[in-house]
Amino acid sequence: MGVFVLDKNRQPLMPCQPARARKLLREGKAAVFRCYPFTIILKERAGGTTQPISLTVDPGSKTTGISLNAQFNSGTVCIFAMQLEHRGRQIKESLDSRRGVRRSRRNRNTRYRQPRFLNRSRPKGWLPPSLLSRVDNTETWAERLVRLAPICSANVEIARFDLQLLENPDITGIEYQQGTLYGFELREYLLARHQHTCAYCHGLSKDSILEIEHILPKSLGGTDRVGNLVVACRTCNQHKNNLHPQAWADACRKRKNKLEQQRSLAMRAILKGHRPTLKDAAAVNATRYAVGRVIKQLIPDIRFCSGGQTKRNRTLQGYPKAHWIDAACVGEQGQQVRLECSGYLQVSAKGHGARQQCRMDKYGFPRTSAKAARTVQGFRTGDIVEARVPTGKKAGHYIGRVAVRSSGFFNITSQRIVTQGISYQYCRTLHRCDGYGYGYVIDTQIASTQQEDAGEAA
Ligand SMILES: [Zn+2]
Repeated sequence: MGVFVLDKNRQPLMPCQPARARKLLREGKAAVFRCYPFTIILKERAGGTTQPISLTVDPGSKTTGISLNAQFNSGTVCIFAMQLEHRGRQIKESLDSRRGVRRSRRNRNTRYRQPRFLNRSRPKGWLPPSLLSRVDNTETWAERLVRLAPICSANVEIARFDLQLLENPDITGIEYQQGTLYGFELREYLLARHQHTCAYCHGLSKDSILEIEHILPKSLGGTDRVGNLVVACRTCNQHKNNLHPQAWADACRKRKNKLEQQRSLAMRAILKGHRPTLKDAAAVNATRYAVGRVIKQLIPDIRFCSGGQTKRNRTLQGYPKAHWIDAACVGEQGQQVRLECSGYLQVSAKGHGARQQCRMDKYGFPRTSAKAARTVQGFRTGDIVEARVPTGKKAGHYIGRVAVRSSGFFNITSQRIVTQGISYQYCRTLHRCDGYGYGYVIDTQIASTQQEDAGEAA
């Protein structure tokens, strides 16, 4: 994976190979600036030639893929990739528990007060805190990367399918019938329109296999027009077979079981022209738009791309499915991209500790004593430390996230294994706590294909 390089005035230069960084550090021409993502600063040089680098983002609800693609003369190369894990779920859970405690406190102590409700105003573009944190995490990392690499453009995956389809759902122009994205975009669009359930039984058949279904079968002259397509489960699809929709609805109507009644109702509604709207899909996309807006403020040269195109780029190049690879394949620049890194930087949002002064039991009463000091012997929970324990039961070399204890014996977590009771005397800070946890991950599938390629070249 590429190492970020800054010149002596802290201006970003082209990222370099790890071997070159090692050489510069050994010769004393550079110093380590940051551990995560690994950055060196040159001691002598100021300025240098750079190639255009594009920041590409694939926003997701749990994980966001971010990659840096450099445009060399030989083609587009992914030189750095990271996966950003969000903590929307934890935020929602802690807000829920806070609300529970406040409610019970109000019931116990001030129940004579008139209830107040709807007394909050929400500004335009308001997002729930759990969603806002995803936007903020992505903004933070876009900002950091802009400081570390000469980024001049951005590509953000903004919607699962083309915006034109969103605004004009039943577009039937030739470009969607025969264009390159037909199939990929259409499938995503139909799934979103029907909210990933069967259009006929609405999930009653309990069949999870969804297929694209022609309302009027092709054998009776039905076309591939978007208006003639719905999403249906395999059970309904096979039950309908190649019957005329009206004939099938009538046949289902005569049967008295719940499933067939539902099928008949749904089919009659569809024949009248009722199709679900895309309102819900648009709400899901709200976070993605917000991500696009904040990145546009940082990098004005931005292109918004569709998820159908990402999927197509990835499949045509034969890459496996992963968030960081998806990010590298976003948009037009992702049509031909070489993955130079065989892994990614795993970054997980951890927050900056709790605001609560002490833990509570389920009734909202204090369960522990008041919060202890945040800093112990110069260390803070969340710092990445290196510990070399020379002797004893815990003897060894540890690198990981520290959880401080006022006793001076800390817990160190590395690769999800917790080692308890390591004295502060053996610890050395590598990276100060900044609200994120880090780890480098090697993608074995990609690494093995790269080795094969190298072997062939040799
Ligand atoms: Zn069905």
